[in-house]
Amino acid sequence: MTETKTAPTCGSVKPLSPEAERVLRHHGTERPGSSQLNKEKRAGTYFCAGCGTEVFSSETKYDSGSGWPSFYAPVDDNVAAQIDTSHGMRRIEVHCATCRGHLGHVFEDGPEPTGLRYCINGVALDFKPKD
Ligand SMILES: [Zn+2]
Repeated sequence: MTETKTAPTCGSVKPLSPEAERVLRHHGTERPGSSQLNKEKRAGTYFCAGCGTEVFSSETKYDSGSGWPSFYAPVDDNVAAQIDTSHGMRRIEVHCATCRGHLGHVFEDGPEPTGLRYCINGVALDFKPKD
């Protein structure tokens, strides 16, 4: 008899890529500039890759030059934040409020009207252009 180990899926809508799994479930960070979404300029919606919750809109996306997709505001209460003191830094970690999947960090050097910069791993997002 062998026991099958299953990881919690947290309501995943589809299997995650190893990289998405690493970021969302293990607080990983993708390589800067590696995401196709950096240069995504189309109107549309960004969903959590882990569970399909709407987390960001193209309306709040801007080019921060950081190498990661950046937004100045999330979709309402769908994104939650907590203090992250890992790596000897004090940062604010942001995650999907539905599945708690790690999305990225938020910094206070963003543009108006919020002054916030949501620095998000593209691999944690699933973009659907508006047609
Ligand atoms: Zn999620």
